Amino acid sequence: MVKKIKTYDVIIVGAGPVGSTCAWYLASKGLDVLVFERKKFPRYKICAGGIPLVLQDFIGDFPFEKKFYNVTLIKDKRKFNLNLKSPLVTVRRENFDHHLLKKARSASAEILFETVTAVHNTQVYTANKEFRARIIVGADGAHSTVRKSIDIEYHRWIDTIEYELPGYADEFIVAMGPGPGYAWLWPKKSVIAFGGGGFGPADRWADRLAHHLGIVPTAKGYRYRYHLWNKGKRIEDNTILIGDAGAFASPITGAGIYTGVLSALEAAKMIYQHIKFNKPLHDPYFRRLYNEFIPATQLATVLYSAPAPVTVFSQPVIRRFYGLVHGYLKMMRSLYRCT
Ligand SMILES: Cc1cc2nc3c(=O)[nH]c(=O)nc-3n(C[C@H](O)[C@H](O)[C@H](O)COP(=O)(O)OP(=O)(O)OC[C@H]3O[C@@H](n4cnc5c(N)ncnc54)[C@H](O)[C@@H]3O)c2cc1C
Repeated sequence: MVKKIKTYDVIIVGAGPVGSTCAWYLASKGLDVLVFERKKFPRYKICAGGIPLVLQDFIGDFPFEKKFYNVTLIKDKRKFNLNLKSPLVTVRRENFDHHLLKKARSASAEILFETVTAVHNTQVYTANKEFRARIIVGADGAHSTVRKSIDIEYHRWIDTIEYELPGYADEFIVAMGPGPGYAWLWPKKSVIAFGGGGFGPADRWADRLAHHLGIVPTAKGYRYRYHLWNKGKRIEDNTILIGDAGAFASPITGAGIYTGVLSALEAAKMIYQHIKFNKPLHDPYFRRLYNEFIPATQLATVLYSAPAPVTVFSQPVIRRFYGLVHGYLKMMRSLYRCT
């Protein structure tokens, strides 16, 4: 007798912040959700962990390390103080991601710690088993197996390098440029995330800031590549890409948690409408996000190429520019304050 395979409403591949948020939303709405994660949680994830606290408006409280109302911006060897209207916080990804996974599980999402090897139509394959779902979500990060399975490619890769330095610091430092990249020094409770990233070899920005601050990183640096947001497909038949798998990182900062979570919520609403009311699955559902990313992409070019005072004094412009819409732009608007 052939054993019948259960069909889930949704299978989500990857339990990073994006996959877990999508799972939490859909399971809370009563859908039958299965999540695959290849690593045992809590797991280390390379990340500077800087997040606007306003993310709580979308996912509720989350554990964080330190809170900052000021950013020290270094550009063209000049130092500026940016006052933030609402704070940035730093998180340790092992805690933050685990918190979101537990939230998804308590909303009744089923979690399996197994690696997905491929997806095809409604099937999801692991090393020795096959699973089925009406909708498959790829939330499996920058090097997504799901994305490769459906033959979608993006191009705007950035290179990053990060060191976790032992010690304490209280200043949230961003050193922009030269060129399209920046370096960061973002303190957590007992360690400091230090690194750089952009279009080109990431050491370029990290070494420059290290030299400026007189730091010699003794820890090992981790390199990682992922995509910034760019136009392209995120949906193929019943498969949807979100977070880093769908290239949703901010075109301005490369930060992908906030924007990835927004993509997860947009996708989750679309999936719910599709399963409950047979509404179509189509890319324009992400249009609200695209509309926010397009001006941000243009602004990024100006911010990185303009001289330091223009970058700093563009805060009021950014505020006005970003005042109209919600989501990503709400976050940008919430951060900037004229000083
Ligand atoms: C050096 C560096 C610093 C960064 N700093 C920041 C920052 O300060 N702020 C910010 O917002 N963003 C930052 N980012 C970007 C941020 O890390 C990502 O945008 C974010 O992790 C995307 O979340 P995600 O859930 O889409 O993917 P991920 O967090 O990558 O999660 C994907 C999950 O899928 C799992 N997975 C992968 N393949 C499979 C498979 N085949 N089967 C099952 N599971 C699988 C992985 O184990 C992982 O848990 C940084 C990135 C780097 C590289």
